[in-house]
Amino acid sequence: MDAQKLEHFRRKLLAERERHLAHINDNQQDARQMAEADDGVKDAADMSLLDVNQEIEYRLSERESQLVAEIEDALRRIDEGTYGICERCGRPIDERRLEALPTARFDAACQAIMEAGQETPSL
Ligand SMILES: [Zn+2]
Repeated sequence: MDAQKLEHFRRKLLAERERHLAHINDNQQDARQMAEADDGVKDAADMSLLDVNQEIEYRLSERESQLVAEIEDALRRIDEGTYGICERCGRPIDERRLEALPTARFDAACQAIMEAGQETPSL
């Protein structure tokens, strides 16, 4: 992949990372506000609703953190010169696939094979 295209994907990944980091920040602020609002006497129903909300916030943040890790991994591959190359078969990943999924580590064929859970795929 040429430098210009790599730069295009780098910018795309950085923008994605910013978006997720801002979202994680929001989630943490929401969680804090909920915790701070929780200083009055609450009945059991309120308490369990609060727990559910915090659980949801936590899981969202966890998912976002995972996505940020995947993005940082992709940025590292750009630096190392392995970005856009399937980690399984070594063939270039289709650029339209990378546009839709800039963190893709595998081409569509390998992804499909792995999702099908086949042990010995025919390449
Ligand atoms: Zn592949």
